[in-house]
Amino acid sequence: MSQPQATEANDIAYCRSDFPVLDQAVNGHPLVYLDSAASAQQPAAVIDAVARYQREDHANVHRGVHTLSHRATELYEGARDKLCSFINASSRAEIIHTSGTTESINLVAQSYCRPMLQAGDQILITWLEHHSNIVPWQLVCEQTGAELIVAPINDRGEVELDELRALMTDRVKLLGIGHVSNALGTINPLLEIIADAKQRGISVLVDGAQAVPHMNVDVQALGCDFYAFSSHKMIGPTGAGVLWGREALLEAMPPYKGGGDMILEVNFEHTVFNELPYKFEAGTPNISGMIGFGAAVDYLQSVGMDNIYQHEKALHSYMVSKLKAIDGLHLIGTAREQASVQSFRLNDIHPHDLGTILDHQGVAVRTGHHCAMPVMQRFGLPGTTRASLGLYNNSDDVDQLVVALEKARQVFA
Ligand code: PLP
Repeated sequence: MSQPQATEANDIAYCRSDFPVLDQAVNGHPLVYLDSAASAQQPAAVIDAVARYQREDHANVHRGVHTLSHRATELYEGARDKLCSFINASSRAEIIHTSGTTESINLVAQSYCRPMLQAGDQILITWLEHHSNIVPWQLVCEQTGAELIVAPINDRGEVELDELRALMTDRVKLLGIGHVSNALGTINPLLEIIADAKQRGISVLVDGAQAVPHMNVDVQALGCDFYAFSSHKMIGPTGAGVLWGREALLEAMPPYKGGGDMILEVNFEHTVFNELPYKFEAGTPNISGMIGFGAAVDYLQSVGMDNIYQHEKALHSYMVSKLKAIDGLHLIGTAREQASVQSFRLNDIHPHDLGTILDHQGVAVRTGHHCAMPVMQRFGLPGTTRASLGLYNNSDDVDQLVVALEKARQVFA
């Protein structure tokens, strides 16, 4: 396996050259990639791990007696072990391979909540949530007669903690909350929130899609019951992700999907389900995606999550100071604890127009509602422009963003 250069140098500045896609011109300008919150770029170590598997080891996992199947199984299950230690799960049985955060949350809604919810029960979420942490709860509420309730946010984009606590009554069976907001970058004070919920007997699912790529996450220390995240947000391939859940809860839950691999024995009268984690992994999984995910974890660990957090925090502060200096630019999302995501508006330029002008200058940002329409409604906006940083970004990228924004301002003056 080709080792990331950062391992030797232990300096995050060397990371950038490990990401081949960044070394290109777009529309005649060097690419400035500021859309990692939508999907992060992959280092050569990940691309090579997937290609090597496809070229040398591809076979279906678990069922084969031949050498290639053994190799594929070893790589695929090896990724589970890496993910287990990456988030400090207590057992590999708690790492359910899914297609991503969205599937992980739907799994909990249908397999954990649906059998226990009754009319009158409540699911509690916040205004900050991504649609993936809203719609699965709406569906299960419709199926069971339960009610979805929502804790408000303030003008900085922080959850109103007193109001959240006030909503934590006996009727609430589960709190679904994001660790980091993808639209505003807000980092929720999860330790405090989870402790409050657990004290009231409320189960907690954390949508960790925007947290795991940027900071150390220890699911046991957090004290939640479920934690969901996606490979492609954390420099791995698309279509792969994890649901972590407490083993005792997962044991008690019925399967989410039926099919091959999730069974021990099948006859027409009755089926014996497989043990954890396979009970929740019906059908041929995304083998190459999970192998790439394992390589992504290796890479992140080689750079060091603390290094990544510090680097991105400093770069985010730099970006905010530069953006604030631009005439007519308004930051949307100014939480006291913020990850490396920044939404903004520039005068009354429509975000899509702004994004297009930036793209003409090689700067890739995301524009629109960011799959968080309620957040946009809260701020009375159709959308924002969002610049999101990854471990491979540097201050030159921010400077290029600022130049491009100044140009856009002149175009629309
Ligand atoms: N939750 C958050 C906070 C996200 O940012 C995203 C993706 O943007 C998701 C959930 C959904 O992730 P996926 O599409 O990988 O399932």
